[in-house]
Amino acid sequence: MTSPAADTISVDADRLWRSLMDLAEIGAYDDERTGLRGVNRLALTDADAAGRRRVIAWMEEAGLAVRVDRMGNIYGRREGTDPTAPPVLTGSHIDSVATAGAFDGCLGVLGGIEVVRTLDERGIVTRRPIEVGVFTEEEGVRFGTDMLGSAVAAGRLTLDYAHGLTDRDGRSLGDELARTGFDGPADVCLDPPYAYVECHIEQGPVLAENGVGIGVVTGVQGISWQEITVHGRAAHAGTTPTQLRADAGLAAAEIIVRLRAMVDSGEYGELRATVGHLTVHPDLTNIVPARAELTVDLRNPDDAAMARAEEDLAAFLRELEDARPGLTLTTRRMAGTAYVPFDETVQKVIAGGRRRPRPGAHLPALRRRPRRPGDRGALSHRHDLRPRRARRHQPQPPRVLHARGVRLRSGRPGDDPAAPGRPGLTARDTHLSEGAHVPTDLVHRGRSRPVDC
Ligand SMILES: [Zn+2]
Repeated sequence: MTSPAADTISVDADRLWRSLMDLAEIGAYDDERTGLRGVNRLALTDADAAGRRRVIAWMEEAGLAVRVDRMGNIYGRREGTDPTAPPVLTGSHIDSVATAGAFDGCLGVLGGIEVVRTLDERGIVTRRPIEVGVFTEEEGVRFGTDMLGSAVAAGRLTLDYAHGLTDRDGRSLGDELARTGFDGPADVCLDPPYAYVECHIEQGPVLAENGVGIGVVTGVQGISWQEITVHGRAAHAGTTPTQLRADAGLAAAEIIVRLRAMVDSGEYGELRATVGHLTVHPDLTNIVPARAELTVDLRNPDDAAMARAEEDLAAFLRELEDARPGLTLTTRRMAGTAYVPFDETVQKVIAGGRRRPRPGAHLPALRRRPRRPGDRGALSHRHDLRPRRARRHQPQPPRVLHARGVRLRSGRPGDDPAAPGRPGLTARDTHLSEGAHVPTDLVHRGRSRPVDC
């Protein structure tokens, strides 16, 4: 930065807020049952395309040079004084799940544009270029692979693989890129930026529960997914003695209970274990299940502890098989990624950008819609606007939050550089997530390029 006051500037929080609310109108829906208002902008639908066009218009108004790559990823570039320096990249995604709030992803993109607007207004020139990125299909809801656009940009997945993915109706991502006009000409392989930083809502309750406005994400937990199938023997519920049963449902239940005991034991560090999918067959009231299928999702920020958990679970499955005649178990690995630490320099910059909230900082007005006959509540508000959060925003000293599996170094309320002093944004909606949507391959400076790029 060339300006001595550069470390004290703030963005225009009201302007950022207006951008967020304007974008939230595209694909907005009212949930008549709950009275809540949300956003539905699945990737490369007409609503997503409209949102993209709006964001590109804002980028161009802010003087950014916009390029769209062959994955539909959008980059807006502000040049620095050193044309050879790799850029500082920021951004996120604007595609959504079907029942999203207004801030998921959008805060990272619009916050980046707001930073550029602010730099321009202050006449601040940076040495490095700044780029604001919008990554395609980060949610993965429509085409089945999340963080897709950034994965292709980073060379983790090929462009052909991504283009060939199809949605539920059989439409391919490549065709949808062409249909919406976002099959851009730019090379999809992204040169490593100097640094990548993303402001994102937390997708868990840790910060809110601790009354902390913003956290600094230190890394992405390791992930291990597997599917377990238990084969037993169907039998009549009334006539088959208990000791003669090979009950696949019971074995599935034992696996679930065992996983919880493993977590509670503390022997596996900050392990989290989830069985989110469980089916039994033939799924009838009076039949002992012949087969059970369940998935196991393990998370751990410690790779060695994760490996121990996987080994011990495998040993338990063997024990179960040995102890129950007639039962066999098979497993299928679905996913496995190691812990990814984030760049400490970037973490320090975020942690050092703390700022106390403005006295009397207030929540922005909630968006209201007219009462209609049959409305249960008087007001509708976005899923992720909760006025009660404001009460939590009392100044407090920085401290380290070390929740299981998510290590967050806290800042102070109002720390959010994109919306200082706006508790309505910072309380629940602008803290960083535990890694979801963060294009992790872009995080590390100087990381070697994968084979595809
Ligand atoms: Zn997101």
